[in-house]
Amino acid sequence: MSKKIIIAIDGYSSCGKSSFAKAIAAKLGYIFIDTGAMYRGVTLYALRHGMVVDGRVDEAALVAALPDIEISFAYNSERKAGDLILCGENVESQIRTIEVSNLVSHVSAIGKVRERLVALQQRMGRDKGVVMDGRDIGTTVFPDAELKIFMTASVEVRAERRYKELIAGGHNVTLEEVRRNVEERDNIDINRKESPLRKADDALLLDNSDMTVKQQMEWVERIIDERTR
Ligand code: C5P
Repeated sequence: MSKKIIIAIDGYSSCGKSSFAKAIAAKLGYIFIDTGAMYRGVTLYALRHGMVVDGRVDEAALVAALPDIEISFAYNSERKAGDLILCGENVESQIRTIEVSNLVSHVSAIGKVRERLVALQQRMGRDKGVVMDGRDIGTTVFPDAELKIFMTASVEVRAERRYKELIAGGHNVTLEEVRRNVEERDNIDINRKESPLRKADDALLLDNSDMTVKQQMEWVERIIDERTR
């Protein structure tokens, strides 16, 4: 029997981290956890509770409300992934709007929000056998993860991929709008004070600009084989 490990997947926005993480989890029978969805859930809460005024998040109000913000996942057998549950409501579709995307990096830069979600993520990975994707999994959430991958791809490729995904999901957006959002989120994520996006020293770099999903899977399967032996 191979040993259960933690696989941490970090990287820039719209690199295909979640699809990759999900495919790995399915292959290994592991649990897939999309931590970006959790930050999106908190952002949706702020929007719904009047904590965003003129595009600015009322940080003090959001921090004060943190004990009331319940975040969990419910497995969706159709998507083969967890849907985000916010205070008992399935909001998986509502957290993917451009409105949430435009605000989420501001919300995720708030130290107290990170503290709360990181603790939750650490609890979710306690028994190992998880593939977790985000921005700080290999650096902050699980610095001892047995396998860390840092993903990147050119901005053009990433914007195009996210655009197609959004259009397919029925969202009304332009390619330019998506590209701006991807760049802006990268910028905020890299430069924030708390757990900025960076490659952990021991993470493997995966630039998938010119790789198919099949090629990425072949690459990772060989590595997983070594690390779980
Ligand atoms: O992965 P996704 O693009 O859905 O993440 C949305 C946002 O949540 C990111 O742009 C980032 O600001 C934040 N995030 C984070 N730390 C994580 C996961 C996501 O700061 N571990």
